[in-house]
Amino acid sequence: MTHDPKTYRFFLMTVDPVHVGTGGARLGRVDNPIVREPGTNLPKIPGSSLHGVIRTYAAHRYGKPQCAGQGQQEGRKHCGRPTCPICYTFGYARDREGGRAGVVAIGDARILLFPVYSMVGPVWVTGPLALEAAGFGSHQVSPGKARWGGTNSELPTDKPLNLGWLMVGREGNFPSITNASWEDIPEQIRNRVVLVSDKLFSQIVNSNLEVRTSVAINPETGAAKEGALFTYEAIPRATILWMDVVVSDYRDKTPWQNQGIIWKAYQDNQGEWHDNDQRGGPLYPDTNNPSQPETINGQPRGWKSPIDVIQAGLEWTEHLGVGGMGTRGFGRIRKLTACPVKADGTLDSPCPNEDDAHGGTEDTEESSP
Ligand SMILES: [Zn+2]
Repeated sequence: MTHDPKTYRFFLMTVDPVHVGTGGARLGRVDNPIVREPGTNLPKIPGSSLHGVIRTYAAHRYGKPQCAGQGQQEGRKHCGRPTCPICYTFGYARDREGGRAGVVAIGDARILLFPVYSMVGPVWVTGPLALEAAGFGSHQVSPGKARWGGTNSELPTDKPLNLGWLMVGREGNFPSITNASWEDIPEQIRNRVVLVSDKLFSQIVNSNLEVRTSVAINPETGAAKEGALFTYEAIPRATILWMDVVVSDYRDKTPWQNQGIIWKAYQDNQGEWHDNDQRGGPLYPDTNNPSQPETINGQPRGWKSPIDVIQAGLEWTEHLGVGGMGTRGFGRIRKLTACPVKADGTLDSPCPNEDDAHGGTEDTEESSP
């Protein structure tokens, strides 16, 4: 087997507002700003934050809680075994033996489609750079103008449209995107996409972030602290993001069987979650997915590749979230789809090795520009 690095592109949707802070208050519009891309000033979720939560959630799903976190705490050291899905995938730290680097690199989650209100209801704004970086080809639009994507007839055909407080004139449609990953974005969103220039995109995003005011509580009195009103900003609900995960399996070994089948978490009718519960169906191996054989050399196969471990961890961000303000109902993110990126940087379509729930092969009936 040769060393063959592979990139997977994930598309995500925020289910709650998401606040990943810069780690310190600064002078400005809000007390607790979120992390931004320096060049475009667009908010993002840093890969390091995602790496931390994905490792933690995957460790719990695979029953290896000691392998979550930094591994430096007494009594909670990484196991470091080559058969451990967590230590193999993310690496491990050991005092004396030194540890090992992981085999995955998780990139930043960047904004692709951003919801803003308009006189015709919510629309999702994007820019040429964002579309191209995510693998959806090159598109143009004049400064101060907007082009409609999709087919929704509610978008006015000739009248100007407001995007938040900003009025823009229309400049026709942009060509339909027929990539399978695009078609995995919910249709209500795809049908209401508005393309504006990169400069306008950044301005619209930054002036339509969710900003909330809260008050710090004094733990002794249970009342509000004096002068403790603070504001924080967040990426709003229903934002579409994308991120790349590179699997560079330099250890070049067949990942290992563990003791048996790992079961998905199961939600009962009281809404309670039960971890590793047979009623949730098999997590790994997934018997419905023929590329994940149940047994290999007569032994049950627990995980097939580091990307399975990433997916398992990422599935829990839909319940447990990422970033701050979790107790205020912030942070949940849903995985929409993941697709390997080809050597030339384009996205495979249809996406191989994906369950067929999104069948990306049929042509869409989009209107012509
Ligand atoms: Zn471990």
